[in-house]
Amino acid sequence: MRETRIRSIILSFIIFGFLFGLGLLSFKLFVNSATYALSPINRHLLGNGLSRAGDILDRNNVVLAHSEDEKRLYNQDVNIRKALLHTVGDNESHIQTSIQSLYRNELYGYNFIFGIDPPEFLKNSNNIKLTIDSNICKIALNALGNNRGAVCVCNYKTGEIICMVSTPTYDPYKPPVITNDKDPNYEGVYLNRVLSCSFTPGSVFKVVTAACALENEQDAEDRIYTCKKIMDVDNKKITCMAAHGEKDLKNALMRSCNIYFASLAIDLGKDKMNSFTNSLLFNKRLQIDKISTKESNYNVTNSNNYELGWSGVGQYTDLLNPMHSIVILNAIANSGESIDPYLIKEISESDGTIKYHIDNNINSHTLLTKSTADKLKSMMRYNVQKNYGDSLFPGLNAFAKTGTGETSENKKPNAWIFGGSTNENTPYSFCVVVEDSGFGINVAGPIASTVMKALCKVK
Ligand SMILES: [Zn+2]
Repeated sequence: MRETRIRSIILSFIIFGFLFGLGLLSFKLFVNSATYALSPINRHLLGNGLSRAGDILDRNNVVLAHSEDEKRLYNQDVNIRKALLHTVGDNESHIQTSIQSLYRNELYGYNFIFGIDPPEFLKNSNNIKLTIDSNICKIALNALGNNRGAVCVCNYKTGEIICMVSTPTYDPYKPPVITNDKDPNYEGVYLNRVLSCSFTPGSVFKVVTAACALENEQDAEDRIYTCKKIMDVDNKKITCMAAHGEKDLKNALMRSCNIYFASLAIDLGKDKMNSFTNSLLFNKRLQIDKISTKESNYNVTNSNNYELGWSGVGQYTDLLNPMHSIVILNAIANSGESIDPYLIKEISESDGTIKYHIDNNINSHTLLTKSTADKLKSMMRYNVQKNYGDSLFPGLNAFAKTGTGETSENKKPNAWIFGGSTNENTPYSFCVVVEDSGFGINVAGPIASTVMKALCKVK
C-alpha cells in the first residue's frame, strides 16, 4: 500500500513537471515566435531576409531602405548607404546593433497565426522614422576619410541622435569578402564604433577628473598645482608636454596639463574617483532604444598612486565609449540633466497609423549638480576661446576638450574631441574619435568643425 502511494506521488511529480514544461514552452513560443522566425539564421525562409519589410526613413523623410518587388533597396547615393550602414544595417544582419537587426519584427510585421507570410489584409509591416540626418552623416563620412573612427552628434535638449557614423564601412549592396581579420581596411567593420567600442580617452578624461573634484571639494576651482614637466610618483615618472608652472583648475584644463590632473586624481583618492565615475555611468552598458552599448571602463581599486595619477589624465586602464561621452556632454550642456539619446522617432503602420512615438518615452538622468555642470561648461568654453580659437566653430560659442589617447608603442594615438554649442538655437553635443591617428586637435578637431559647421549652417 505504502509503495503504491510513493509511486503515485512520484508519478504526479513527473506529470506536473511535464505539464509545467509544456506550458513554459508554449508561453515562450507565443512570446518569442516572431524573434525565432525572423532570426537572421532563418534567412532561407525570407528570400533576401527583408524583402517585404517596411521603410526606414531619416528625420527629413529621406528613404534609407525600402522593399520593392521582393527586394530590399537602399538609398540611391552610395555615400549615404555607406554612412548609414551601421545604423540601418545590411541584408545579412552583419551589424548586430543596426535597426534592420534589432527591429526586424517591427519592420516585417509578424503574425502569430500566419507567420511571416500573412494574407494581404493581415499584413502589418511598419515604417521606422529615425532622428538621424542622412546628409550630415554623409558629410561626417567624407570628413573621416580613410580613417578608422566615429562621429556622433546629439541634440542635448531633446536627446535626438542627429549624426552617427562609424568607419571603416561598406556599401550594403557590396558586402566585402574578408579573408584576413587583421586587414586594416576592414578591422572591426561590423562594429558601430559609436555604440560598440570603447577607446583610451587621453585628455578628454580630464573633464571627468575636474568634475569629480568640483563635486567633492569646496576649493576645487582655486586649487593650485605646479607642473615642472616631470613628477616622480612611486619612483616612476608622470610626464607632461611642457613645464606649465603654477596653474588653477581652469587654466590646467586649458593647457591640458598632465601633472595637474595626475596630482588632482591622487589627492582625490581611489574611493572618490571610483565612486564618482560609477555615478557618471562608467562600467555600465547604456540603453539606446533597443541597443545596449559597450561600457566605458574606470577602475582604480587595485592601483598604486602612479597608476591612479595616470588614470586621472585618461590613461592607465581608462576606456571611453563615444555614446557615453555624449551622455556626459548632454549633462554638462543641460545644467546636469542628461536627456537619454535615442534613434527611433516614430514607428507607423503602412496606412500611417502611429504605433510608437518618442514624445511619450523620453527619459533623463541627473548626472551632475547644476553648479558642477555650469562650471565645466564655462571652463570648456574658456578652453575653446583661449586655446583652439572660436574659428574652429564660428558663431557656435562652443565648449570643447581634445584628447590624445596613447594605446600601444606600435600604434599612433587615438585623436579625440568632444563638446557642444552653447547657443539656444543650435543645442548640439558632438564627439569625434579617430583611432591610430595623431593629436586630437589636428585630426579630430577639423572633422568636428566640418560636421558642426554643416549642421549649424555656419561658415
Ligand atoms: Zn603640465
